[in-house]
Amino acid sequence: MIDNFPRIRLGHFPTPIESLQNITKGLGGPEIFIKRDDCTGLATGGNKTRKLEFIMPDAIKNKADLVVTVGAIQSNHARQTAAACAILGIKCLIVLEQRLANAPESYMNSGNIFLNKIFGAEMVLCPTNKNVEEFAKEIMDDRKRQGANPYFIPVGGSNHLGELGYIECMREIIEQDSEKLFTHIILATGSGGTHAGLIAGKAHYQSDIEIIGISIKDKKLDQEEKVFRLAKNSCDFIQCKSLDRKNVIVEDAYVGEGYAIPTEGMKKALKLMARKEAILLDPVYSGKAFDGLIDLVKKGYFKDSDKILFIHTGGSAAIPAYEWAF
Ligand SMILES: *Cc1c(COP(=O)(O)O)cnc(C)c1O
Repeated sequence: MIDNFPRIRLGHFPTPIESLQNITKGLGGPEIFIKRDDCTGLATGGNKTRKLEFIMPDAIKNKADLVVTVGAIQSNHARQTAAACAILGIKCLIVLEQRLANAPESYMNSGNIFLNKIFGAEMVLCPTNKNVEEFAKEIMDDRKRQGANPYFIPVGGSNHLGELGYIECMREIIEQDSEKLFTHIILATGSGGTHAGLIAGKAHYQSDIEIIGISIKDKKLDQEEKVFRLAKNSCDFIQCKSLDRKNVIVEDAYVGEGYAIPTEGMKKALKLMARKEAILLDPVYSGKAFDGLIDLVKKGYFKDSDKILFIHTGGSAAIPAYEWAF
């Protein structure tokens, strides 16, 4: 089914699933596994690679010579988009939104920002009194008047095309899980497309695995509604089985003070993963999500016989921009 949609190979798939043996032993609960979507291969990897494999063909179909997208300063989506544009020979313009108050110098210049420069992307900072999507549209109108043919990718690449990437990921997980071991999937949920794609994939492939999104910004009900809406849209697009609202589960206790603001729990989780498993999480998404996973294990949310699959959505390229937080 998904095979019928245009796709451009940008990453290395399937990504491996590994057992987190040291952390599992230390926590003494269910066995925890990790799906290495931080190893998708495009420009230090991450979840946006899967989405871009289905979005970029649409940009090409529309004969775009400029791809425009939006994101936070340390957006991993923007960095992977810049890399995808580089390989496809399309110009890339990133409109950046300052969402972190009093951000230090390294946050503004290092990590993903530095990589965007290396990939040759143009970056524009959105004025704080403007809506970032509206500002991006203004710039696009300007460029059109100058003769360009721009193509817009929404924040996080979360639309019906991007979500095909995570419907496909769900298929990949089911195929890798031939013994049907996994009882739960846990991941960071932000703009929502990754979570929504998995939910649509769960419906489409009729999987019993419970999917839990750990919010990195919004309140539980808001995030659940957003993900449900996106998943429904995806299901309509691929004509899958009907969706059950109660399958969309979000935990919102691990956000801390807000988006991209470091928490003690995130720092602990990030160091634990580095020191026990030699895997790098990121401060904004996977670090907070893994903090949530650890807490849910400690609170007895799972049975000891459960098998938990954590999806590592990437983002370690942002670590240098967060040196001040550690
Ligand atoms: C974008 C991103 C997410 C969230 O994915 P959404 O599809 O936006 O919900 C999670 N982790 C990392 C590292 C990301 O860059």
